[in-house]
Amino acid sequence: MHTFAYGLTWLPSGRILTRMDVRDLQSINLASIIKEPGSASADGVIHDEIIAGDDKLPLEGDTRWSVTVSSAGDEYWLSGEVHGTVLMECRRCLKPTPQKIDAYFQHLLEYHPEVEKLTMIDDEEGEEIYHFGDPNLDLSFFISQAFALAMPLTALCDESCKGLCPVCGADLNTTDCGHVTQASVPGALADLGKFLDEV
Ligand SMILES: [Zn+2]
Ligand SMILES: [Zn+2]
Repeated sequence: MHTFAYGLTWLPSGRILTRMDVRDLQSINLASIIKEPGSASADGVIHDEIIAGDDKLPLEGDTRWSVTVSSAGDEYWLSGEVHGTVLMECRRCLKPTPQKIDAYFQHLLEYHPEVEKLTMIDDEEGEEIYHFGDPNLDLSFFISQAFALAMPLTALCDESCKGLCPVCGADLNTTDCGHVTQASVPGALADLGKFLDEV
């Protein structure tokens, strides 16, 4: 059995909550369904950025999430979704490029009052179960993990993006610095160019 401690370390402890933080708080209160079986729901909006591990993912517009947790015997099923637009650097010109993200997630949870941090238990059948101890369950790990996993590996601002000049770094979509025709058309291609000029 492997145990991984996760994520509440993602939130700096002792931080003073601003109004923005309160509005952006990602949590669900499970006290009522810990007392008696049922389900609980929560939703919210994330502004500006999502913190996923060491990464800050800049957002364009509002990112909306919703989560439902339902009793399932001694366990709880958490299911949720998050929808938003992340700004990724174009892999050629580095321009912030909007990428629409629609992510869905489901996790099995167990309530253990003595557990301080959300902890993932990986059982022998390969099933992942999260143990939590605070009835006011912090959802930021689940939301940011799902969002980050749904992101493409790279982004391209446009299929025809010309990228940056390898010599001076100018954005070749907007600038003709004159380097690229000499630098990137070596040998045979340059000869072909000359030949075509002469035809
Ligand atoms: Zn580009
Ligand atoms: Zn250049």
